[in-house]
Amino acid sequence: APILDIRDAGLRYKNGHVVWQGLNASIQPGEWVAILGPNGAGKSTFLKMVGGLIEPTQGNVQLKGKDVSRYKTPELYDTVGFVFQNPEHQFIADTVFEEAAFGGKVAGWPQERIEREATQLLADFRLQELRDKNPFTLSQGQKRRLSVAGMLLKRQDVLLLDEPTFGQDAATTAELLQRMQERNEAGTTILMATHDVELVAEHASRVLVIGEGGLLFDGSPHDLFSQP
Ligand code: ADP
Ligand code: ADP
Repeated sequence: APILDIRDAGLRYKNGHVVWQGLNASIQPGEWVAILGPNGAGKSTFLKMVGGLIEPTQGNVQLKGKDVSRYKTPELYDTVGFVFQNPEHQFIADTVFEEAAFGGKVAGWPQERIEREATQLLADFRLQELRDKNPFTLSQGQKRRLSVAGMLLKRQDVLLLDEPTFGQDAATTAELLQRMQERNEAGTTILMATHDVELVAEHASRVLVIGEGGLLFDGSPHDLFSQP
């Protein structure tokens, strides 16, 4: 069964702007789906809809066979991880450690598990020295690594990534992709909005191109890039 089933979804903002309509896509567990399209096409809006942050004004999104809008917040947070375009939009804790640990705390994990798993993540993302710093004082690359680390703590079924490598140097980009690929190989479904065509060719199993108010392409990176 698909993990995500987007059915005739449309989104019209309150000011009347129709971002897209008639979107259909069925996504299987373990797929790595890249979302491509020009600026303003509605890639962020699409991810926000899939993650239940905004409701479609037409159609619906089924997540593991249940309408996303019917999920209670804790259940949604256990199922879907979201990395925003701007890491700062995600930060809510006073220290790097608390930020990485936040998901476990909200989920009511025992302190010892939180300590062990958040500490491991900080090590994986080379943030352990910054453990007691305020997240807002970090460099751009460190902020990005922290925003991804915090999101990976919970091992959700689905990761929604909005331009996760935007503005990062090649080394940080490679490192982030490596960590996401490990999760994907462990079965996590990934939807990732990006402009980075090389990254798509290397990592995605499928591409959705959003533009002109709808879905322009749904297929493999190979088929997309070999189009005339
Ligand atoms: P992308 O991620 O592809 O750049 P977005 O999803 O951010 O596109 O935005 C799609 C369109 O919807 C843009 O024209 C944007 O200005 C508009 N938009 C985004 N959020 C809102 C909102 N809250 N209200 C009205 N229009 C919005
Ligand atoms: P992010 O990149 O973290 O998603 P943005 O900087 O794109 O955030 O947008 C910040 C907020 O402003 C978002 O909640 C977005 O929905 C909203 N927004 C974006 N474009 C518009 C718009 N044209 N009109 C109203 N709100 C918008």
